[in-house]
Amino acid sequence: MRVAAAVNELREALEAGPRGSVGFVPTMGALHEGHLALVAAARARSEVVVLSIFVNPLQFGPGEDYDGYPRAEGRDLELAAQAGVDVVFWPVTSEIYPPGHPGMVTVSAGPLGSVLEGGARPGHFDGVLTVVAKLFNLIRPDHAWFGQKDAQQLALVKRMVTDLRFPVEIHACPTVRAPDGLAISSRNAYLSSEERVRATALHRALFAGCAALERGTGAGAAESAMAALVSSEPGVTLDYARVVDPDTFGAPQPGGAALVAGAVQVGSTRLIDNLLWPLPGGEEA
Ligand code: AMP
Repeated sequence: MRVAAAVNELREALEAGPRGSVGFVPTMGALHEGHLALVAAARARSEVVVLSIFVNPLQFGPGEDYDGYPRAEGRDLELAAQAGVDVVFWPVTSEIYPPGHPGMVTVSAGPLGSVLEGGARPGHFDGVLTVVAKLFNLIRPDHAWFGQKDAQQLALVKRMVTDLRFPVEIHACPTVRAPDGLAISSRNAYLSSEERVRATALHRALFAGCAALERGTGAGAAESAMAALVSSEPGVTLDYARVVDPDTFGAPQPGGAALVAGAVQVGSTRLIDNLLWPLPGGEEA
């Protein structure tokens, strides 16, 4: 496994490695089972697997956890090697954002970037898409894997690839969860043991929303059921609970899948999660 910290090292590593289709998994590191599921999927269908580890300052807002974001350099490299990664791209920030370029060109996420997560985190998806575009241009993957856990990110990356004509195929991997249902996330490391138990309210709320959809109550009632469950859990505050179309984030289509999505605050930690649920055809969603 080669580790590249600079763009020229990345080029050398890609040229020195095996030939064939390049599979890419972008991450912010502090690797866990969710990331490793993406790497396994990439490994299964690519000759060359590239993993990037970059805590992207552009996608963090003022007062968010950029400085404190979990970083686990040595362990990440061990896990990447065990998972069969060929090249780790671990750029220093100045390689991605060279200093002295005020007014740099960025990618705009458009209207889909300002709802749900984008409403709570203004500019977040512009930052995500800008770094993903840069990484796609540097690595030139044939395929790239993203987690369903970050459903809006996945939808926006697909949108960007279509709209800006990136020659890469995007694949989604299902959310990897702990046995109690909590979606695995690098940010779970922030939770105290008590908060960790409370945090399962988010997953339970998503199920309450799906159960409401199953009863045919419609999207609004499902959102209320989710909100009610979260508000019954002390120490957990609801940011949003929504039922939307997984591609457009508008109203879900009868007969299609609904994205049942939520975000909560548990102490100082913000958590997101979602489930995809089939809607009955031809009925009001
Ligand atoms: P992050 O390092 O949090 O930016 O995540 C990097 C990639 O891993 C993204 O595509 C995430 O959606 C994906 N990911 C994070 N957590 C999980 C999980 N629990 N299950 C599946 N994919 C995940």
